[in-house]
Amino acid sequence: MKNKFCCIDTEARWSLNRSGGINFRVFKTDYVNSYEPEMLPPYQYYMTSGYKLGDRGKDVMVIKVNYCPFCGSRLSKFYNSDFFVNEMDDTVLHY
Ligand SMILES: [Zn+2]
Repeated sequence: MKNKFCCIDTEARWSLNRSGGINFRVFKTDYVNSYEPEMLPPYQYYMTSGYKLGDRGKDVMVIKVNYCPFCGSRLSKFYNSDFFVNEMDDTVLHY
């Protein structure tokens, strides 16, 4: 089934807006700025405490995740299409 979530817990946190913590975010990597584009998967996954655009470099709690913290599924098996992308700019949460 296309665009299926791994579990309802992650679906609920994905559905929150970016300022609602604790949320699950799917970022799409910008290949143009990558040194080794073939080494990076296009989608990256984060749990955050909530943030606003422009919070770059501020005290936003964020952890990169590869497996669902609720059901243990490998996230790249589920969230591998643009349907799931919350943010196109993967520098939003980094310095
Ligand atoms: Zn899950």
